[in-house]
Amino acid sequence: MAAHKTSFRDSVDRMFTHAAGLMSLAPGLEEKIRVCNSTYTVRFGVRLRGQIHTFTGYRSVHSEHMEPVKGGIRYSLDVNQDEVEALAALMTYKCALVEVPFGGSKGGLCIDPRAWNEEELERITRRFTYELSRRNLISPSQNVPAPDMGTGEREMAWMADAYKRLHPDDINAKACVTGKPRTAGGIDGRVEATGRGVQYALREVFRHDDVMKRAGLSGDLGGKRVVVQGLGNVGYHAAQFLSAEDGSLVTCVIERDGVIRNPKGINIDALRGHIQSTGGVKGFAGGDFTEDGLRALEDECDILIPAAVESVIDGDNAARLRCKLIIEAANGPVTADADEILREKGVVIIPDMYANAGGVTVSYFEWVKNLSQISLGRLERRHEEARARMLVEELERLSADTGLNWTLSKGFKESFLTGADERELVRSGLDDTMRTSFQKMKEVWLNNSKVHDMRTAAYVVAIRRISNVYNSLGL
Ligand code: GLU
Repeated sequence: MAAHKTSFRDSVDRMFTHAAGLMSLAPGLEEKIRVCNSTYTVRFGVRLRGQIHTFTGYRSVHSEHMEPVKGGIRYSLDVNQDEVEALAALMTYKCALVEVPFGGSKGGLCIDPRAWNEEELERITRRFTYELSRRNLISPSQNVPAPDMGTGEREMAWMADAYKRLHPDDINAKACVTGKPRTAGGIDGRVEATGRGVQYALREVFRHDDVMKRAGLSGDLGGKRVVVQGLGNVGYHAAQFLSAEDGSLVTCVIERDGVIRNPKGINIDALRGHIQSTGGVKGFAGGDFTEDGLRALEDECDILIPAAVESVIDGDNAARLRCKLIIEAANGPVTADADEILREKGVVIIPDMYANAGGVTVSYFEWVKNLSQISLGRLERRHEEARARMLVEELERLSADTGLNWTLSKGFKESFLTGADERELVRSGLDDTMRTSFQKMKEVWLNNSKVHDMRTAAYVVAIRRISNVYNSLGL
């Protein structure tokens, strides 16, 4: 049977609808949760290189059951309304699954960031921020953007500064965006957070024999063959941590211009350096280069890490994959069609909404830090311990009062109160989040005969939490 193509957005909705169908939700609630509340499209002009250039940007708000709504801003020529809306929906489910108290949102700008110099990008970003700010689509209490593909600390610093100039009286202005550089109110460990989260997720998977058995894996991460697609911020950190700290062998890296293979394991830092200096992987001395691109997703390996864009594994190539486990570091890399084929093949998929939640988890820590104006460094700790304790108590009281189970994770709280330094604090909070969320997902997966995979389990957990919020709001 010929596989038909499913769009990213259709895939997300299909996966959601499948999971929601297993639950008994109040009439109409399924649709309320699924649909995207609003999408703002803006076209603005910036005078550059002697002429006016018009750019198209989006900010989509999927669900405001919790505010602020949260999600990154992507710079890419492929950005379009459907993609932004699908990504915003995933943010809603992701936040609910890992219990960070945000609704879901996402933004994008149709631009090739490599086509403009730094000064031009700054002007474009500041102008985009102005447009978002006019509609409260960037605001510490309502909508908090973050980095995504094509953006990073630099763009977040410009956005935060632009916001502050537009709102000079907002004492929480710093919290209008996360993923800022440390010097602009960022938090240690945010840049590496998504890749670190992928590593912590895999470590947790490897602690569960029953899950490992289903994937046909045993032992630890040491020596496991890993294929990584995309050596951007997420793919690079995940590959680097797994190879340098867990002894995994990254046998293949798939990049824009081709593929590098080395069965003995690729030196990730060296490859990253090569990409930075030459613009691609071609010519890298530490492995064999070919131009076979996405075909390399079909390489035999233990763990496949798609860490670039959506829909790279679809109804066409899914049956040919030769991995045991897929961990979705990117958002939406496996289509709904591929999902079914892979389940039948016995490949275990660690779903995106869990696997790449490290970024937004640490964004939450950054946002809390900015709002409380607490500096988390060891030096300042003594003076601020009492304030820290009050803040934790306040958050717990709030969460009890509202009947919602949104609390600071145990590890985060403990390190927060005992004065660990910021990076340590962030790591332990992240590890705690990745472990707890995995256990919750697994419990639903293995204890419910109708739930056949971890993605469905993740949706069930997320939908249940969101519907509880709607119910408590009286909707
Ligand atoms: N862009 C990241 C994501 O897709 C991070 C979002 C955030 O930190 O708000 O999860």
